[in-house]
This record gives sequence, C-alpha cells and structure tokens, in this order.
Amino acid sequence: MSDRMPAIFFGHGNPMNALADNQWTRLWASIGNNIRRPKAILSISAHWYIPAVAVTAMESPRTVHDFGGFPKELFEFNYPAVGSPEIAGRVNELLGGDVHMDENNWGLDHGTWSVLCHVFPDADVPVVQLSIDETRPPEWHYKLAKKLAPLRDEDILIIGSGNLIHNLHAYAWGKHDVQPFDWALRFEKTARELITAGDHMPLVNYGSLGKDAMLSAPTPDHYLPLIYILGLVRDDDVVSFPVGGFDGGSISMTTVRIG
Ligand code: ZN
Repeated sequence: MSDRMPAIFFGHGNPMNALADNQWTRLWASIGNNIRRPKAILSISAHWYIPAVAVTAMESPRTVHDFGGFPKELFEFNYPAVGSPEIAGRVNELLGGDVHMDENNWGLDHGTWSVLCHVFPDADVPVVQLSIDETRPPEWHYKLAKKLAPLRDEDILIIGSGNLIHNLHAYAWGKHDVQPFDWALRFEKTARELITAGDHMPLVNYGSLGKDAMLSAPTPDHYLPLIYILGLVRDDDVVSFPVGGFDGGSISMTTVRIG
C-alpha cells in the first residue's frame, strides 16, 4: 500500500536536541525529507500523561515548555505549526466520542516539537496531540491505538514520541557518549527482535519481561508512545529502525518506523 502513511515512534531524548545538530537530529531531518507530506500529524507524546483522554482542538496550539533547568533559548523556542480542529474531531469520532476536546490548556509539548522541528522544520503541517491516559494499563493503550488505524489511510502521519529506554536515575547528565548499561543493551535487543517479529504482546505486557524491562521503563510515560505505534502495525507493513544509539547510557534514541 503505497498511499498509506507510515507511523513512526521517535526516541526524543534530551530536550536540547531541539537546538542541536547531531547524529540524531540529522537522521530525523532525513526522515522528513523522505516522507510524503501528510495532511496533518497526530502526535502521542510522553509529556502529555494525564488522567484523561484529551486531544488538542485549538486552531493555534502554543509551544509548551514543559521542563525546568534548561537554557533560556530553549524556553524561547517556538514551533508555530497550526492545529486542526477537524482532525481533533475525527480522532474523537474514531475513539467513540467522549474524548476531551482541549481548546485552551495544552498545546505542543517538547516531546512533539523537539523532534518535529527537525522532521518538518518549516512547521507547515498541522499538528494535533493526543494525551496518554495515565489511569489505564498498557493493553488498553494498545487497543485504543488500533481504533486510530484508519487515519493512516486519510493522509495523517501518526507519531509517538518517548523513549524505548528512559531511566533518568541512571542517566549520565552531560556525558552523552558513555557506554550503555548492560540491562539497556539487553532490553534494546529483546525489544527490536519482538518488534521485527511482530510479536507485540510481550512488549505490551512488558512487566513480564523482567528486571531489564523495569529498569528500561521505570515509569510508563516514555514507553507507552511505542505501544501506540505498535498498535497501528498492519500485516503488510515493513518495520525499520532508521535511528538508533544511546544517550547518557540509559536513554535509547531508537526510532521505529512502520510502513
Ligand atoms: Zn521526554
């Protein structure tokens, strides 16, 4: 199916990637250069992890600076993509009609803009964000993602933004190139093998994958966006990993592209 849009999970890592020109940001830019321009983007970001299912439904979502302790220039960064009340309404329809339509609270957070500012630097594609309901178990998110599948046939690019492995307790702040932890390397290998084989349930129920998984996803927020992208896989989709590597030993920068 050449006219189905891919779905892509991005490992976003450090917010400073928004301002950087590095091995990861260059690969993100090349993904943008090699993809058909979508009608709109639906982004599921680790950083909108709230006790509700909500979608940004405003015409002009603000750039949310949802972090502390970073330089002033990051707080001044603006990603001026417009929103799409129309696509927000379509998401609500697909999810059964009781999604909270957010008109004035959230916007685009750094999980979305720190990546999209490289993938679509002109900010000329409308962007809508879908929250991750923190009260729900992983399998619920996997099933919810399946309801979004028709969007891929409607020229909507769905992205998940988090990190397959995200352990800030072990993260070597300021030392990007340190050797990854053994548990991180093992979980990365296991996850890639399962994703490639289309064997999603062990990844959905990742608690069953033992201590390596618990160290890799000590909280669900950065892991669950991957589960959404896996929920969108169809039988004839090609799966690839166009970006890889680790930052600070405990953050996987892996990108998973479906289709
Ligand atoms: Zn993050």
